Amino acid sequence: MSDVNKTASVAYDAALEVIGSVEPRIAEATRAELRDQRSSLKLIASENYASPAVLLTMGTWFSDKYAEGTVGHRFYAGCQNVDTVEALAAEHARELFGAPYAYAQPHSGIDANLVAFWSILAHRVESPALERYGAKNVSELSEADWESLRHEFGDQRMLGMSLDAGGHLTHGFRPNISGKMFHQRSYGTDPETGLLDYDRVRAAAREFKPMVLIAGYSAYPRRVNFATMREIADEVGATLMVDMAHFAGLVAGKVFTGDEDPVPHAHITTTTTHKSLRGPRGGLVLATEEYAPSVDRGCPMVLGGPLSHVMAAKAVALAEARQPAFASYARNIADNAKSLAEGFLSRGARLVTGGTDNHIVLLDVTSFGLTGRQAETALLEAGVVTNRNSIPSDPNGAWYTSGIRFGTPALTTRGFGHDEFDTVAELVVDVLRNTTPNATKAGAPSKATYTLADGVADRTKAASAEMLDKHPLYPGLELT
Ligand SMILES: *Cc1c(COP(=O)(O)O)cnc(C)c1O
Repeated sequence: MSDVNKTASVAYDAALEVIGSVEPRIAEATRAELRDQRSSLKLIASENYASPAVLLTMGTWFSDKYAEGTVGHRFYAGCQNVDTVEALAAEHARELFGAPYAYAQPHSGIDANLVAFWSILAHRVESPALERYGAKNVSELSEADWESLRHEFGDQRMLGMSLDAGGHLTHGFRPNISGKMFHQRSYGTDPETGLLDYDRVRAAAREFKPMVLIAGYSAYPRRVNFATMREIADEVGATLMVDMAHFAGLVAGKVFTGDEDPVPHAHITTTTTHKSLRGPRGGLVLATEEYAPSVDRGCPMVLGGPLSHVMAAKAVALAEARQPAFASYARNIADNAKSLAEGFLSRGARLVTGGTDNHIVLLDVTSFGLTGRQAETALLEAGVVTNRNSIPSDPNGAWYTSGIRFGTPALTTRGFGHDEFDTVAELVVDVLRNTTPNATKAGAPSKATYTLADGVADRTKAASAEMLDKHPLYPGLELT
């Protein structure tokens, strides 16, 4: 690894010199970003560190090529090399996840979900209508038939996990376009245990009869039984879509297998490629043979020209994820999350669901007398990078919140293990115990401002620096 990074140093030095000759401030910001990433305790659950091979792949002339269409069927000339890239990315994805079909074009997780939603609507609303009208595609329809087909969209229903239980905005919530496309209802978690209650999901599905049942989360610290979710979907005739944006690395590394592996159970599985999967910033859609033809129409249905340079980097990252080393990385992610959770619990902190069995730990900071916002800012002041997050039935609402979400993928990439994550828990608890809310003018505790006791930030930073120095990011990579 450090040999590869030594070679990468030469590449980055040269690249920064070229960049700096045009806009030195961008070269300097790029250097500063590396320094910052190296010197902070990154515990944001959705972030990671991609390899230099993945990062370098993104900086090439593939960026300059238009390639709308699909492999071998492009609306532009000269796409033979993009075809190689996209076919390889899809092949690696199919092999890695055991999926019949993979679509590598989505630019992000949200785009992957948009492709999935419109594919489901194309398959379940548009295709039957075309058959009725005796047309092969929408362009063949008369003005009147098209007008009536357009009105068939928008009445469909989606059932997804509620935001405060850990669901995602793109799962049918009003601020996102998905909430305007679908009538949405959400399922929560058990108020006592914080765990998903499949009987409640089933009851909600029976009553609401969604066309799309969506599973997946960005802040739920537990595994999901996707076989049961599929049973529920089948019972009400819903399409099961799983958004594994957060935990794709645990699926790729075979930490989630059997009922916990979404791919064999879902009709459509979407993901980002940059979170636990540790690839470039992007998205991916996996599908059954049944849904493949409609997913294949992602461009032009929802997407424009693919980011060929990013698809190339996806292929490199997926090739990395097929190596045995990635499976041990994925196991370490989950083991480390357990160590972090135990570290919190043994120091008297409260965790949503009482623990974790994935890569996320959700700390309830109300017992420290703080809001999520105060805890997040105080931790940042001490060099610990996390993000605030709602907890079920959050007393402080979606802006201030009452939780802090921790994730282990990034620091696990740096080689942190059990002892380091126990120390992380100790440092976090120390910061939060030494943070007190300021008083508002009216004398009530503020939800936003706080005071961190003197010396705490410094001692936290010193303890972090010691661990970070022992586990350098990109060992051997030195910029001049
Ligand atoms: C992160 C995330 C997304 C969105 O990914 P972007 O690449 O930021 O668009 C979608 N769904 C879930 C569950 C996520 O966690």
